[in-house]
Amino acid sequence: KVVVVGSANLDLVVTAPTLPRAGETVLGEAFTTVPGGKGANQAVAAARAGGRVAFVGAVGHDAFAQPQRDNLASAGVDVSLLRTVPGPSGVALIAVDEQAENLIVVAPGANAALTELSTPDREAIAGADVLLCQLEIPVDTVAQAVATARDAGTVVVLNAAPARTLPAELLAMVDVLVVNEGEAEVLAGRPAEPGDLLDLVPRVVMTLGARGAAYADRDRQRLDVAAPRVLAVDTTAAGDAFTGALAVAWAEGRPVEDAIRWACAAGAACATKFGASSSLPVRAEIDHLLGV
Ligand code: ADP
Repeated sequence: KVVVVGSANLDLVVTAPTLPRAGETVLGEAFTTVPGGKGANQAVAAARAGGRVAFVGAVGHDAFAQPQRDNLASAGVDVSLLRTVPGPSGVALIAVDEQAENLIVVAPGANAALTELSTPDREAIAGADVLLCQLEIPVDTVAQAVATARDAGTVVVLNAAPARTLPAELLAMVDVLVVNEGEAEVLAGRPAEPGDLLDLVPRVVMTLGARGAAYADRDRQRLDVAAPRVLAVDTTAAGDAFTGALAVAWAEGRPVEDAIRWACAAGAACATKFGASSSLPVRAEIDHLLGV
């Protein structure tokens, strides 16, 4: 079982011929709402990859809450620990032009109110094989979840996104750190390879876009795993597909190299489709890319 403690947003997306400059109004075209947030996306990714998944998070007391709840539930994610808090849901206001250039403002809303874990949250974490967190909720809440997992022997997978520095005490409780090159650079304070982060955490998985992923651990194991070659049309959520699938493979006790190869296939499968959470692959699609 995988428990995700993290963010949920509703993305409000409008396309326009050009993006407005400050003070300017442009007439847009299509408007869509898309459930997002790294936490919710990775929970959906893990569930579609075949994991048993529960999501701990918060939505607001508004019309944006139900679409987020429905999106998680319809992917098979257990939402019994998803709370509704006073105030607005997390939203991302996104404008996209014809060149796919975008402007994004994120209002964390309910995600910022996820400051305290309940007893049922802690019990779920303690009973899980893997805890999966990201950094779009208060970092103190991440620390509470990670400490609970550590005490219970639940494996902690931390996707350190969006990029920021973290207290060494928090990183010391992480079992598997998942980062891209930018996030690794921020954590290390300089451009970094996976091995450069092993003074902070015992295992590092670094995603490398179309090149796949690299791995290093304190037992001196080093791996470079190529991603399956695909016709990529939209890499939105590829990182979330990768991380969700990795958490599932880890919870299943698969060998590290298998787990990373499978996660790469999940990211690659996601990149072959347009969309964010809608492009997250199901287990059969991931297996198919690997020819199994
Ligand atoms: P992020 O968006 O978080 O920086 P990446 O772009 O590194 O994440 O993508 C995550 C994973 O998705 C990669 O490790 C890779 O396995 C897969 N992936 C992403 N883009 C491609 C691509 N163009 N072709 C094949 N696989 C891809």
